[in-house]
Amino acid sequence: MITVEQISKSFKDTPILNNVSFEINKGDFVGVMGPSGSGKSTLLYSISQMDSISGGRVLFEGRNLSEMKEKELSDIRLRKMGFVFQNAQMLKNLSVLDNIILPGLVAKKEPAVVIRRRASNLMKKMGIEGLEARDVREVSGGQLQRASICRAMINHPAILFMDEPTGALNSAATDQILAILEDLNREGMTIMIVTHEPRVAARAKKVLYIQDGQIAACREFKTGAEKERELDEWLRGF
Ligand code: ADP
Ligand code: MG
Repeated sequence: MITVEQISKSFKDTPILNNVSFEINKGDFVGVMGPSGSGKSTLLYSISQMDSISGGRVLFEGRNLSEMKEKELSDIRLRKMGFVFQNAQMLKNLSVLDNIILPGLVAKKEPAVVIRRRASNLMKKMGIEGLEARDVREVSGGQLQRASICRAMINHPAILFMDEPTGALNSAATDQILAILEDLNREGMTIMIVTHEPRVAARAKKVLYIQDGQIAACREFKTGAEKERELDEWLRGF
């Protein structure tokens, strides 16, 4: 689905990403770990081309994103990519439901009633039904983050990009999000998640470890109980 070919990025003269290459296939669940400041977020935003890159290219479904104009890129991001950030970034003067359906309305592909129905189904699936009319300041952080996953899913994206989605949540709320991500991935959703929490990364099928703007290592993990221990051992090596 996505081929990242030797991408590099610098701010002024400081290299941030250095010749990074890898692939994301449909149905992958990729975790990205690494020290703070190593370039994890930059990598995520470079793939979706929210950040421009200084070298290399990114192919998405066979098309070169690095050559596209911003108009076409923003259209692909709207329709094909879902984003979840550490802070849900909801619009404060809209209800939870209106926040979730907004990207659907902007995409102008379907009637509002269809989008609204899908939003309700997603909210039920994420366990936040009943919060539709709430102001986004009146729900918990975990509920808000589940709403932001609904929003990211509203246009049937091909991939979900997540940057520390559980970074501001307690462990119970984190567990709820992790269960949701596993369900989504089991149903075929492709996920790329940046996290510094081994517990979160342990849900991924493949983990990239970023150091100084490069992939220091990449490893696929077995599923099941052995996984967390195996990941911990692997991380101790860095
Ligand atoms: P991570 O997500 O792994 O913590 P980032 O990708 O946010 O790391 O940042 C990688 C490096 O790039 C850091 O050294 C950071 O200071 C630098 N950086 C990130 N964004 C900018 C920016 N807009 N301008 C200058 N430097 C930046
Ligand atoms: Mg970051």
